[in-house]
Amino acid sequence: MTEKDFEVHDPQALAQARAILTASESPREWAKAVVEAVQRNDEWRGKRCINLLAPEAPTSPTVRALLSSEIGTRAAEGHIGRVNRWFAGTQHIDEVEALCVELLKLAFRCRYADHRLMGSMLGNMAVYHAMAQPGDVIMSAAQPFGGHSSNRVDGPAGMRGLQIVDVPFDPLELEVDLAEFARAARQARPKLVVMGMSMTLFPLPVREMSEIIAEWGGKFIFDGAHQAGLIAGGQFQDPLNEGAVVLTGSAGKTFSGPQSGIILWNDPELTRPLADTIFPVLAATHQVNRVAALAVSAAEMLEFGKFYMAQIVRNSQALGKALDERGIPVVGARRGYTRTHQVIANVKQFGGGLDVAHRLAQANLITNKNLVPGDQPEDWDRPSGLRMGTIEVTRLGMREADMETIAGFIARVLVENEPPKQVAKDVEDFRLPQQVLYYNFDHGMPPWAQ
Ligand SMILES: *Cc1c(COP(=O)(O)O)cnc(C)c1O
Repeated sequence: MTEKDFEVHDPQALAQARAILTASESPREWAKAVVEAVQRNDEWRGKRCINLLAPEAPTSPTVRALLSSEIGTRAAEGHIGRVNRWFAGTQHIDEVEALCVELLKLAFRCRYADHRLMGSMLGNMAVYHAMAQPGDVIMSAAQPFGGHSSNRVDGPAGMRGLQIVDVPFDPLELEVDLAEFARAARQARPKLVVMGMSMTLFPLPVREMSEIIAEWGGKFIFDGAHQAGLIAGGQFQDPLNEGAVVLTGSAGKTFSGPQSGIILWNDPELTRPLADTIFPVLAATHQVNRVAALAVSAAEMLEFGKFYMAQIVRNSQALGKALDERGIPVVGARRGYTRTHQVIANVKQFGGGLDVAHRLAQANLITNKNLVPGDQPEDWDRPSGLRMGTIEVTRLGMREADMETIAGFIARVLVENEPPKQVAKDVEDFRLPQQVLYYNFDHGMPPWAQ
């Protein structure tokens, strides 16, 4: 292949798409092909799979309906209010957005909230633009310990031209090495310490780290993309009360709303720099349908979050234990496996994360490969770990005993080497009767909890 032909996407997948376009001359047929692929996903992933992807959450029927509402076709740039907007006719959009902001403040028990960014990626970018200058030093966690590209050299932090120093981790326990952090931080004197953990099992020492960096005025940012729902539901640490000055989050992970970024803070001095970065730097039209859906998911979180998130944590602990008992090594076993929605297994002995995730997907068990301690950044494509999350299975009303069943399916593929297709049949039989999503105003609590 010459450089001229280079495609970053899988060439076979693109060739298949081109084959559809050449097989018919009709744009109507092409549109139909798109709709049918969506339907196939709905039928398979939506109804027949056990989805254990940690960054996914199924939204409630009301939230899903709002995502296709008329309001999503309207343009509303700028801050909420008659004078602030460029466009007239936005009074009902203002109502929706103001409710969203106030519901987010309530859900996260904080003074300020913003709802306009499409993802946490942009939330973190807003922080780097508003609170740092090119050349500043920050500290963040490296990917093998669970860090995320948005806070590293290959993401927004790098794009802002920041110098990035690693937060030292204990390689076995997957926790911040506080003594080593104190030493490294006092030497580097970072302006910001940004902890964003995509692999997250236990709370972070936010208070201790914030106190150390306060010595030179350094600020702690908690990128709670994954943990936002757990934080709102009061089932995890509360970073804004422990020394973090900004909390960013993804609404589509544990928060179980539409895929969105949220930014939360308490200090009025941060309001101007953050707001000026959100608009006009990073958001113009910002998908008001998504904002409406976000507002309703915040209300769901206020009503159901405590029970929903507590059950998510109980389920992931049960899943970790059940996998461990079936011969699949689980990270954090000594500390009770997890205090979040995630379970991390080391599947090196079963062929590594890439191969295992694809074998499990053939059995309708959807997970993802993950770097784990011991892996190098170069192992990115073929890491040793497997990451699982219990958000969706919990919202389907499942409990601890169901996690034993799921661990049994996983062990049949990995430990007993059963053909995945054979296991897929039993996974479907287990999943097909369970289609109702709970912890929302459409269906309330699961029947066993009523
Ligand atoms: C998922 C994730 C992000 C990116 O979130 P999006 O909402 O998908 O943009 C940022 N930081 C961390 C730690 C994440 O896990």
